[in-house]
Amino acid sequence: MSTIPKRPRGTILLLEGKCIACGARCQSVCPVDAIEMNEKGEPIIDTQTCTICRKCVKECPVDAIENYLTPAEKEQMAVFETWKASAAKQVSKEPKAPKEQEQPVAKKPEEGGIADWKGVWVFVEQVNGKAHDVAWELLSKGKTLANDLGVELAAFVIGENIQHLADEAFGFGADKVYIVDHPTLKSYRTDPYVKATVDLVNHYKPEIILMGATGLGRDLAGAVATQLRTGLTADCTGLTIDKVNRLLEQTRPAFGGNIMATILTEKCRPQMASVRPHVMPKSEFIKGKKGELIIEPFTLDEADITTKVVEIISSANKGMVNITGSKILISGGRGMTSKESFKLLEELASVVGGVVSGSRSAVDNGWIEQPRQVGQTGKTVHPKLYIACGISGAIQHLVGMQDSDFIIAINKDKTAPIFSVAHLGIVGDVFEIIPALIKKIRESNAIIVQ
Ligand SMILES: Cc1cc2nc3c(=O)[nH]c(=O)nc-3n(C[C@H](O)[C@H](O)[C@H](O)COP(=O)(O)OP(=O)(O)OC[C@H]3O[C@@H](n4cnc5c(N)ncnc54)[C@H](O)[C@@H]3O)c2cc1C
Repeated sequence: MSTIPKRPRGTILLLEGKCIACGARCQSVCPVDAIEMNEKGEPIIDTQTCTICRKCVKECPVDAIENYLTPAEKEQMAVFETWKASAAKQVSKEPKAPKEQEQPVAKKPEEGGIADWKGVWVFVEQVNGKAHDVAWELLSKGKTLANDLGVELAAFVIGENIQHLADEAFGFGADKVYIVDHPTLKSYRTDPYVKATVDLVNHYKPEIILMGATGLGRDLAGAVATQLRTGLTADCTGLTIDKVNRLLEQTRPAFGGNIMATILTEKCRPQMASVRPHVMPKSEFIKGKKGELIIEPFTLDEADITTKVVEIISSANKGMVNITGSKILISGGRGMTSKESFKLLEELASVVGGVVSGSRSAVDNGWIEQPRQVGQTGKTVHPKLYIACGISGAIQHLVGMQDSDFIIAINKDKTAPIFSVAHLGIVGDVFEIIPALIKKIRESNAIIVQ
């Protein structure tokens, strides 16, 4: 029996003068935290902790990290490679193992119960009789889904004195509107809202329910799905219909945003999905459009509700900007290197009449406040102009801004993924490009029309 030669491990080294400080990509892939970054953004590799997994070598966009082998190790590597090649040849000659028996294809759900559920519903979230815009965005998407399924599109509104919202819902495309109007539903509380929704759903059996992934919507959707014992896909970024199986295809980022997963609720009804505000476009409001209005009775004694609303204190307007409403966003990332440098972004924002936002790295470093974060765990934005400064373009960031009308990216790494969504890419140093841009705009006396 021949012995298997050992593969030499070598050492992981940074090659001098090659690192471009791409934003700690090597550090982010190291599974054993053996890499620290110095103030220039270059890696310091702790060879004692390093397990030579070579992930950083593969990740580096400019081959600045090497798996160094001594001359003796190089010889040993040649022996190992020769053995590996001959072993591979031998394996390919060996008869192949019989294929494992194919897994049976998942059975389609029994038609019986599921076929009874019909229609697409959208929850119209409201506070003090004013609807949240996400409801109208979802009605627009709901219309496409309902057309694909050949069913009606309905909206349902829960609250007190909310009947006027039915006209708005018709105007945004609903064929039917269900209203549950009762004094106990004046302010949002989970229990009565869940009861109102579950009663409605059990009575009318819609096959799809869409809700806004707002604070209120997230709370309600989860509680309703639990009571109905059905699936809920939160924070969907895409919704389509599999017309053959009449299933809602619910697409959302998964595994930390590294893949886009399409999720099906095959065996339970309704199929529930939530979508964040500003993810789906809102269709035109048609004035005077009418539909069927259904006022649903509701009974629940205030004494049976354990939570009481004592006072409502608005958290809005504490000097905080709502980045989702801004037409121009100047967004900064780790490439801006410090809180101080964000002043440069503020200056650019002031000359173009925009607002400063940023990546999660900028938030984690304390350079901007969390409400200004763009991305999967921040806000989804659709500005007319998005200028990404020193942002690499991780998928979790892209999902929050890639639908902006016009994207300009400034990054010194030409392989940065942000360039894949940018309409205009500038490869260069933000500290040279941004001041030049500000100067040029000021000199041109340009008036930015938003
Ligand atoms: C579950 C989960 C949710 C997340 N949610 C979000 C989210 O909502 N939003 C978000 O942004 N991230 C989110 N992230 C983090 C995300 O994966 C990235 O880590 C983050 O977006 C990186 O931020 P960045 O682009 O600012 O930094 P880096 O990736 O470090 O990129 C910095 C960039 O700056 C460039 N650069 C450096 N110096 C200069 C210079 N002088 N001039 C020009 N360019 C320069 C570099 O080339 C690099 O491309 C999430 C991660 C997870 C796991």
